[in-house]
Amino acid sequence: MAADFEPLYKILELEQKKGYDNTAVMGGLDRFLAKWAGQFGGGIPQPRLLSRFQRLVVKGDYASLSTQQRREWVDSVLSLVAEINGSTPAEAKPPAQTPFPPRAKRVKEIKPVAPVGGYGLDSPITAVKGISTTLATKFGKLGVKTVRDLLYFFPHRHLDYSQIKHISQLTEGDEQTVMANVWQAKVTRLGYRQGTEAIVGDETGNMRVVWFNQPYLAKRFATNVRVVLSGRVSLFKGQYVFESPEWELVEDRDLVHTGRLVPVYSLTQGLYPRQVRKLMKEVVDLWAWQVEDFLPAPLKERCDLLELPQAISQAHYPEDDMVKDRARMRLAFDELFVLQLGVVSRKHDWQETQPDSAFAIDWGLSTSFIQSLPFKLTAAQQRVLEEMMNDLQKPKPMSRLLQGEVGSGKTVVATVALLMAVANGYQGAFMAPTEILAEQHFTTLCQLLSRAGGQEEETPYLSRFSGLLSRPITVALLIGDITPSQKQELQKRILDGDIDIAIGTHALIQKGVDFRRMGLAVVDEQHRFGVTQRSALRQKGFRPHMLVMTATPIPRTLALTLYGDLDLSVIDELPPGRQMVKTKWLRPSQRESAYNFIRKHVAAGHQAFVICPLIEESEAVAAQAAVVEYERLSREVFADLKLGLLHGRLSGEDKDEVMQRFRARKLDILVSTPVVEVGIDIPNATVMLIESADRFGLSQLHQFRGRVGRGQEQSYCMLLAENPSEVGRARLDIIENVQDGFVLAEEDLKLRGPGEFFGTRQSGLPDLRMAKLSDVKILELARAEAVALFQADPGLKKPEHKLLAGEMARLWPQANAGEWS
Ligand code: ADP
Ligand code: MG
Repeated sequence: MAADFEPLYKILELEQKKGYDNTAVMGGLDRFLAKWAGQFGGGIPQPRLLSRFQRLVVKGDYASLSTQQRREWVDSVLSLVAEINGSTPAEAKPPAQTPFPPRAKRVKEIKPVAPVGGYGLDSPITAVKGISTTLATKFGKLGVKTVRDLLYFFPHRHLDYSQIKHISQLTEGDEQTVMANVWQAKVTRLGYRQGTEAIVGDETGNMRVVWFNQPYLAKRFATNVRVVLSGRVSLFKGQYVFESPEWELVEDRDLVHTGRLVPVYSLTQGLYPRQVRKLMKEVVDLWAWQVEDFLPAPLKERCDLLELPQAISQAHYPEDDMVKDRARMRLAFDELFVLQLGVVSRKHDWQETQPDSAFAIDWGLSTSFIQSLPFKLTAAQQRVLEEMMNDLQKPKPMSRLLQGEVGSGKTVVATVALLMAVANGYQGAFMAPTEILAEQHFTTLCQLLSRAGGQEEETPYLSRFSGLLSRPITVALLIGDITPSQKQELQKRILDGDIDIAIGTHALIQKGVDFRRMGLAVVDEQHRFGVTQRSALRQKGFRPHMLVMTATPIPRTLALTLYGDLDLSVIDELPPGRQMVKTKWLRPSQRESAYNFIRKHVAAGHQAFVICPLIEESEAVAAQAAVVEYERLSREVFADLKLGLLHGRLSGEDKDEVMQRFRARKLDILVSTPVVEVGIDIPNATVMLIESADRFGLSQLHQFRGRVGRGQEQSYCMLLAENPSEVGRARLDIIENVQDGFVLAEEDLKLRGPGEFFGTRQSGLPDLRMAKLSDVKILELARAEAVALFQADPGLKKPEHKLLAGEMARLWPQANAGEWS
């Protein structure tokens, strides 16, 4: 917006005439100036003048000055305005010739000037007038700590109170807004309680307004004040009545609660909508325009994006729906662009800055391994294998995401890759999200490798396999609860290069373990892991090939967004003979019949899982709950059956034993905390009962469900939920009817939003708040721009990218430490 100095000029002149009594404008000069600056401050093209202007104008303390000081101050503002308006041409010209509008210029070159007493946007929110430490604590609970956080604390929706109607135009039922005079307001009895009743009128008629439970309002509405009322209109005894509408006195300031698009914030206890709206309006007016726009001007121009300060204010208090959309677009673009830029740079970093790591593919080895399997690879497995082999031969390290439904057979593919590493004299690491899964991978791998040759078991944690290579292949399991001396020995042998394949949790690459020559890292179940593993590896000086596996199908565009640093392979076919798992959401009253159903299947020689509720406080609490449920079921429900218990607090040995016994069919029912979620493979288990199923995400439920239906038998999944929320019910309804993991992932995304879905908060990726699943266009735009910008200036060293570099450093903190600054 080009600065319009006319009103400023007029007001200041009037103020001079009136003898500096701060009455030239209603509400006082400070408020007017802050508002004017918020609207037009960005339109001052000359950096030097702008900063002078900021120092002079945004101080907010005209009211406290003496008359003499006011006179001086008004004089200096007026002369500054004259200067800005071009009476000194040398200054008015932008400092350098540029094809872009001068306005864009200033955002690059100006440091924002703190509005009050040297505070910047990164100050704690107590820097904002009216925010006490108590209030700050409440905002803190919402993750809002700094002034910047507050500016980025966007409403989740807006109420449209923008159309002001006449009383005669009101209709019953709809949300509507009128502006009226108060004739009378009084405390009255409404039902059993006191409330406020008012009669208001405009030139077309009068009407009654009632507020339940708010007798104190009566005092706010003196006769003849003007109010704006927004809310639902109902018909009572043939008369229109406003029931507990939002209200606002018409003063000289902008409407905040009524008469416009009114923001609705997600609040926490102790924060009230009116209070927060009012506060946000002031914060936005006073601070938003000081946010530095970090996007280079040409880019903004190409993509037709709003200026950042404008986008921020419009996202809170939009002028209309159209600007609101443009504001969201700009902010969504920012999120996706910053994400993409980080991802692109990581990929580059991973692939380009690394010594030659090409493997020679040993086709003989892979063929003899594959032929030794008890099944034939599916076409999809074969295709993915080829894609992977192709990567491994290249001098750049592989960086591949392998996506495949639960049970699609990703482990075999990973095993071939690990063998290639070993054949080339490298070591391989295979990482799982939990110890139980690491153990299972170890067992599976041992089974697979032993089919091709001899197995020689040294300890339960270490085996050697002959027959595949000219030398034996050593595979080790490294998990938390082996004895310290065993652990030390394994670590030493990994360091010596004596162990070829090490299986474990991510601790494998994090603490105390050093490889002699790591050539491949396989990471199972990516989305529970986060993206930080590569950084961990890099910090250790390794740049191995990387295969990341996930059972969560992700829409391709989003996969590119979040894992854009990975190439994508998909196993889109299940091994033949897989059954779909019949899924049923049961009412609480059907619990007994669920137990009978389990009993029936056990009688037929099958096994069952009972999954205990998700308890987030700690694994200890979850374990405790599982123990209680296990005891209840053992005593009261299935006294005649053999039950096992699995939870994260068991020692490795105990977990092992339970899994062994379940696998060997010595147990009928396995009661488990949600640790069973990923990977556990027991083909004879055909029934699963999930408690409090409404508390799990769709993808997670789908994962659970994938634990059954692994054999040839028809399998079943029963879902129990005591008192599901609306979203919970929606989820249960979907999981009951949809089998396709891909569709489920999309539904999950819709219900939870990308940030929560991917756990970006924990994963070290910047958060997505404004970007939506449906923003494919913005996403593609952001991606293209990020790639282009990275090519032009990979280190963001050019002066015009300085602000962007700062933003990157802020949003990609640990992972890329040092890269952007
Ligand atoms: P996931 O992709 O979920 O990790 P797994 O690798 O655990 O799946 O494989 C699931 C089961 O399917 C295992 O028992 C595995 O041995 C088996 N399997 C893998 N590939 C095939 C295939 N091509 N034909 C038949 N069974 C297979
Ligand atoms: Mg798996």
